[in-house]
Amino acid sequence: MNQTSNHQKIAGRLPVVAIVGRPNVGKSTLFNRLLGKRKAIVGDRPGVTVDRLETECLIGARECVLVDTGGIGEGTHDLMQPAIDAQVEAALEIADVVLFIGDGKAGVTPVDAAIANKLRRHHIPVAIVVNKAEKPNSELEFFKLGMGDPIAVSAAHGDGIRDFVIHLESMLPDLVESTEDEQAPLASIAVIGRPNVGKSTLINAWLGKQRMVVSDMAGTTRDAIDSDLPYRDGVVRLVDTAGQRKHGRISDIIEFVARVKAVQAFGRADTAVMVLDGSEGVVEQDMRLMQLAQDEGCALLVAVNKLDLLSEDEWNYFAERLNFRMRGLADIQIFRISAKSSKGVKKLLDEAVRASKRNRFEIGTGELNRWLQSAQEAQHPPSDRGAVVKLKYASQTSTSPPSIKVFCNRPQALKTSYRRYLEQSFRKTYKLTGVTVRFTFTGGNNPYAPEKKH
Ligand code: GDP
Repeated sequence: MNQTSNHQKIAGRLPVVAIVGRPNVGKSTLFNRLLGKRKAIVGDRPGVTVDRLETECLIGARECVLVDTGGIGEGTHDLMQPAIDAQVEAALEIADVVLFIGDGKAGVTPVDAAIANKLRRHHIPVAIVVNKAEKPNSELEFFKLGMGDPIAVSAAHGDGIRDFVIHLESMLPDLVESTEDEQAPLASIAVIGRPNVGKSTLINAWLGKQRMVVSDMAGTTRDAIDSDLPYRDGVVRLVDTAGQRKHGRISDIIEFVARVKAVQAFGRADTAVMVLDGSEGVVEQDMRLMQLAQDEGCALLVAVNKLDLLSEDEWNYFAERLNFRMRGLADIQIFRISAKSSKGVKKLLDEAVRASKRNRFEIGTGELNRWLQSAQEAQHPPSDRGAVVKLKYASQTSTSPPSIKVFCNRPQALKTSYRRYLEQSFRKTYKLTGVTVRFTFTGGNNPYAPEKKH
C-alpha cells in the first residue's frame, strides 16, 4: 500500500487520526507527546465537563483530531482480544488515518499480527510506529506486518518523534473549503439520540417523502452527508450524525463512535435536537449526549417521540422524570411528537430554527454592561474571605454560542454557583431558552477604563 500518496479530500471537518495498539505499548505517552500545546486551549473553555476521548491537535502544520481508542472495551473483558477488536472496529468507523503503535521491546506479538490482519482488510492508511525503540533496529521486525515503513520512536524520551510527525502529517487527507457561493443556511440542525428512537423517521418527515435519507449506512461511509431542506426563503441544513446509526455489537463501540461523530456534527450545527423514545426511559447516555451538545456550543431542544404509543398518564410520568434529570442543564424546551404520523414535527422544526437564531445572539457592549451591573446588584458575588469580589466590565467575545468575558478583581474567587447564576440571569433576560452562555472571568483590567491605582 502506498500510504503517502493516499491523499483524499474531505469536506468541512478536520481529519481524524485514531490510535490503536495493545495495552502498555505507550499509547497515552505518545498521545500526550502529540498533543503538545492543545491542552492549554482545552483548559481555557468553560463548561467542558465530559471527559475527552478526542482532542484537536497540530501534527506539524496540520490540524487534526486525535482519538485514543484505548479506553474501549477495557475493564469489561479479562481477555485482551475482544478489547482490541473493539478498538480496531471503532477506529475503522471514525478514522481517516489509523496510528498503529507497536512495542519495540516486546517485538511483534500475535495480537499485533491480529490487529494488522484486521486493518489490512480495509483500505485505510495506517501509520505504524514502534515505541520503546531505544535499542537500534528494534522497529525492523514490524516490517513483516505489511503496514508500510515502521518508524522507531521513544515516546518517553522524545526520540524519533519529529520524523514520525513529518510522516504522519504527509498522510493526512486534505480539507475542502466549502464553496463560497453556497447559500448560508438559516439554521444548521443536528438530530441526535440513541438508535431506534426515530431520528431517521423525523428527518424523513421534515424532508418529505420524495427525499429519503438512507437510514443504515454502517461501514459504507465515514463521511457525513448533510442535506439542505427548503425553509421559508432559504434552507435549513440537516447535519448528518452518521455515528448514531445502528451498528456494532459491543455497546462500548456504538457509544464511542456515536460520540466522536456527534462532536463532528456539533461542530457544523448550531442547534441539536435530542430525540427520545417516549415509550422508553431516559438513560445516562442520553444525558451525556445532551451535555456534550451544550459543551460543543449547540442550542438544545428535546423531542419526545412515539407520542402515539403513550397514554396521558405515561406521558406525565415520562415528562416528570425527564424534567428531574434535566435540572442541571440550561432550561430546555420539550416537545411531544410522533415522527411516524408527522404530528408536531413542523412546530419542532420552527422552534429549532428559532433556537439557532437565539444561539447567534449578539449584544452591544453598553447594554451588556448595564445587564452586568443589575445582575450584580440583584445578587452580589460572594466575598472572598472578607474581600469584596467585583465584576467590573464585560464584553462579548463570540457567538454561537454567545460567549462573554468578564473582567473581575478576583476571578479565582468566583464560585461555579455564581457563574451559573449569571448564566441563568443572562439567559432569562434575553430569552435565550436552550442556549448555553459561556462566561469566562479574567483578572485583566477593563481595557476602556482609565488607569488607576487600587
Ligand atoms: P433511528 O435509529 O433513531 O433513526 O430510528 P428510526 O427512524 O429508524 O425508527 C426506529 C423505529 O421506530 C422504526 O420502526 C420506526 O418506524 C419507529 N418509529 C419512529 N417514529 C415513530 C413514532 O412516532 N411512533 C411509532 N409508534 N413508531 C415510530
